[in-house]
Amino acid sequence: MIQIEHLSKSFGNLRVLEDVSIHIPKRKIYGLIGHSGVGKSTLLRCINGLETFDSGNLIVDGINIKEFTETEARQFKRNIGMIFQSFSLLNRLNVYENIALPMRCWKYKENTIDKRVKELLELVEMPDKINVRPHQLSGGQKQRVAIARALAMNPKILLCDEATSALDPKIASSVIQLLTHINTELGITIVVVTHQMEVVQACCEEISILENGRVATSGDVEDVYVRQPEALVNLIGEKKLPNTTSGITIKIVLVSSNSSQPLISQMARELEIDFILLGGEIGNYRHGAIGSIFINIKEEDLLRVEDYLQNRKIQWKRLSK
Ligand code: ADP
Ligand code: MG
Repeated sequence: MIQIEHLSKSFGNLRVLEDVSIHIPKRKIYGLIGHSGVGKSTLLRCINGLETFDSGNLIVDGINIKEFTETEARQFKRNIGMIFQSFSLLNRLNVYENIALPMRCWKYKENTIDKRVKELLELVEMPDKINVRPHQLSGGQKQRVAIARALAMNPKILLCDEATSALDPKIASSVIQLLTHINTELGITIVVVTHQMEVVQACCEEISILENGRVATSGDVEDVYVRQPEALVNLIGEKKLPNTTSGITIKIVLVSSNSSQPLISQMARELEIDFILLGGEIGNYRHGAIGSIFINIKEEDLLRVEDYLQNRKIQWKRLSK
């Protein structure tokens, strides 16, 4: 659907994107994640044609956007919706008029606009707020209106730039659920740009981690978590664990196929070992729970634990000594 090939972009002497290649499949939710300043928004702006780039190619639906005529470029932008952290609603207009705005620009008929706005308000579950002005809405409600407006022109692609970063976790999670619903029900390809791992883990199937304008790693979100590449560790950091004076600390990575099994207690029973539980982090990914468990085992048990985990193809890493 969106093929980014060897794309590079500078602002003056500042190289912002360097040889970026990413393939975003149709109807997927794809995550672009990285620390602030790595070039995520710039890349998103290249995708929607708001920003030019110096070299490389951007092919959307089989068409190289460099080859667009002016009319094709205009049509192309119409097929892309965008939402931002700041919602970007117009305060002087009520909810209805904010959602209607793109259709007014394209001179749609009043009855078409009216029908579509009401449909969209149902979709984002806010029909009762139709006449309300943005300042009377909560952050989550504002973002729902912004999503409705972004969908007004029936886009094929929805680009989300830190769309949940200004929201508290519970509201952010409900907006992510809405995006997932839009993806599955309407078949819209969604690109989610964020600096928060929990956002991509909740909704994305595939991700690319950007570091200094380059793609540091790409792949299925679960595979990336299991591989634990340096770029991921740089992004989320290693978990702070309580100090231990003896034994060996290991990290066991759980994936959707084994996270619901009593792996650790079974291991302890079968090997007749004891361990200290130091911590854990398990989150719901799109296709199941994934996470890590940190345990401290006795040094003399290490070889047997290693054998046990290896035989069951469970990813693990020794953290201490
Ligand atoms: P991110 O979205 O990952 O935080 P951005 O794409 O916004 O990163 O910015 C990447 C780099 O490009 C930053 O160093 C930023 O200052 C710079 N930058 C972004 N837009 C412009 C611009 N229009 N002119 C000059 N520099 C810019
Ligand atoms: Mg940004």
